[in-house]
Amino acid sequence: MEIIKTLNRMSAWAKAQEKSAKQISLVPTMGSFHEGHLRLMRRAAELADLVVVSLFVNPIQFGPAEDLTSYPRNMERDAALAREEGVAVLFAPDQEAMYPDPPLTRVVVSGLSAGLCGLTRPGHFDGVCTVVAKLFNIVRPAAAVFGEKDYQQLAVIRRMAMDLNWNIDIVAHPIVRDDDGLALSSRNRYLSPDERQSAPALFKAIKVARKMVRGGIIDADRLLAEVETIINMHDNIEIEYLSIIDCENLQVKTRIDKRSLLAMAVRIGGTRLIDNAMLFEETEGA
Ligand code: AMP
Repeated sequence: MEIIKTLNRMSAWAKAQEKSAKQISLVPTMGSFHEGHLRLMRRAAELADLVVVSLFVNPIQFGPAEDLTSYPRNMERDAALAREEGVAVLFAPDQEAMYPDPPLTRVVVSGLSAGLCGLTRPGHFDGVCTVVAKLFNIVRPAAAVFGEKDYQQLAVIRRMAMDLNWNIDIVAHPIVRDDDGLALSSRNRYLSPDERQSAPALFKAIKVARKMVRGGIIDADRLLAEVETIINMHDNIEIEYLSIIDCENLQVKTRIDKRSLLAMAVRIGGTRLIDNAMLFEETEGA
C-alpha cells in the first residue's frame, strides 16, 4: 500500500491507473478506523480494481465550537488496518496540502443540507461537499462508498454528484453496529463508561419504534414521543433532534410509510452521536 500525501502525486497515480484501464473506488474518511470503515473498504474492493482510502480531518466541516483539534488521530494504526484490507493507496494529505489557500469556493447543496444536522452545524455540509468534490477531482473514482450512519451526508453527496454530472457511482453501506446496537463511530471513544452504557438507548428506541410500526402505529408524533421517552430515561443524554423524514427528499413526515426514516442526534456528555433507521425495513437485531 502506498501512502500518498500530496495532491499532485495522488492525481498522477490516478491518471496512471486510468491509462492502464484500472478503475478506482474511493472511501473518504477522517481516519481513526473502526470496523465500520473497514467494511466500507471491503465493499469498495468489490466495486473496482483498486481502492483508495482518503484520510483527512477536514477543518472546513467543523464549527468553531466543535472537536476539530481533539478529533482522534492515529495514522500508524490506520495505515496498518488499511494495508490489511488490501487498500492500494491511503491518501492522507495535511491541511496545507489540501487547502494551500483558504478556499473561496464552496459546494453548497441547498435544501437537503438545511434541516437535521444542518440546523445545529451551519456550514457543515458545505465543508463536506467541498472536500468530497476535491477528492472526486483528484482521485477520479468510478465509485465512492459512504456509510448510511451519516444518512444526510449520503443524501447530500448523491445529489451533488447528480447535479454536477459526476459519473461516479455513489454506493451506500448499511450502518455497522456494536453488539449492543450502538452505531460504531470514531467519537465513541470519547464516551466515559457511564456514557457508553447509556449510548445503546438510541438503538433501543429505534427497535421500539419499528415494533410499533409493525403493530400498525403510523402516526409520526406518537412514535417520536415514545422514542423521546426511551432516550430521556437516561439523564446523561440530551436530545438534539428526533425526526421522521422521507428517506429521499428528507422532508418531515407526519404518517409513516415505506420511505420513512427515523433520524436522531444526541449529546452524551460532550459527545455528539447520530443514528438512523428505516422504520419498515428489518435488519439483524432490530
Ligand atoms: P468518518 O471517518 O467518520 O468521516 O466516516 C467515514 C465514512 O465511514 C463515512 O461515509 C461514514 O458514514 C462511514 N461510517 C462511519 N461509521 C460508520 C458505521 N458505523 N457504519 C457504516 N458506515 C460508517
